[in-house]
Amino acid sequence: MRIQGIWRTLGLGVLFFVSQASAYEIHATPTRFPDGQFTIYSDLIHPSLGTAGVTAPVTTWDDALFDAAGLWNTGSVGLSYITIITGSYEDTCDNGDGEHGVDFTTDLCGDDFGSATLATARRTFSGTVVVEGNISFKESVSWDVYDGNLKTARDFQRVAVHELGHLLGLGHESTGSAIMAPSIGNLYQPQTDDLDGIAAIYTNTCPTYIKAGNEVINSSFEFTDCFGSEAGLAKPSISGLTDSSVALDAYVRIYRLTMEETGTIELDLTSPDFNSAIYILDSSLTTNLKSGWASTGNTASISYTASPGTYYAVARSVLRGKVGDYTLTIVPEPSETLLLIVAMTSLIGLKRLRRRK
Ligand SMILES: [Zn+2]
Repeated sequence: MRIQGIWRTLGLGVLFFVSQASAYEIHATPTRFPDGQFTIYSDLIHPSLGTAGVTAPVTTWDDALFDAAGLWNTGSVGLSYITIITGSYEDTCDNGDGEHGVDFTTDLCGDDFGSATLATARRTFSGTVVVEGNISFKESVSWDVYDGNLKTARDFQRVAVHELGHLLGLGHESTGSAIMAPSIGNLYQPQTDDLDGIAAIYTNTCPTYIKAGNEVINSSFEFTDCFGSEAGLAKPSISGLTDSSVALDAYVRIYRLTMEETGTIELDLTSPDFNSAIYILDSSLTTNLKSGWASTGNTASISYTASPGTYYAVARSVLRGKVGDYTLTIVPEPSETLLLIVAMTSLIGLKRLRRRK
């Protein structure tokens, strides 16, 4: 029989493997799930093998997938969490519905698996945000479920661990001991290197600054920054934009503005890399007091007359997951009225173990 030995990943859009480093690899086009959370639907029945492997204790494919997710969920120090809903089928080629699925398939939605491929994880992303992930296990492989050294029949669960690692954002790690190695081997669970990679992707913190007075802030949104949803912000309504054109999962920076007397806050936000939105929230971070936006390269300007108190200005892109540079100019009038501090927002890892049938 042909030895099936390589697993593969594939991004819709641009994806290449970064090669060779002493530590984990993140996909060359970095992507992640907002809040580190995603849900996969699974109702795995192999056309000839049925619902389960053969090695005792006999484990169903669905249970093996659930356990594979559990290894990432319990091992990760970051925010990531995979929910598996078993007994619920999602077509892995139904790409574009935003639902994540897993299946045994004969091909990759019309493309060939390649002779050595065991399984493939496909990510569809917008900016850095994964909007859909699907995993296809090659139907013609002789599958089983077991721990320990690799046997002729391939262990479905360790392949599932590997492919889930791809969906979480990891690329192939060629040098260290890793479940994300390019080829299947005797490892069957995430290694320290793999978990370090997850922590790097999902331990997201918004930077903290302390500044005062008039400010011109040149900064940038990076892959590891916080999305608005992760910072606890609701999706804003932005003047001049429909609700559907404003993404929830945009990177944000929150600037705390303290007015010592009544005055005007003028905010200008410009980015050469993304369409920018700027808005002012009240002290509870819930009520949008003023907002504006501008297309890429243009300046979003707002002016808000404020009585003494605390306000928050939020800089973001209009679209989801956009990284790049921006300049934020904050001008209080009169100039002595404003004390400015950038709010600290850090995320605490959230662990839940949950299963629904
Ligand atoms: Zn792989």
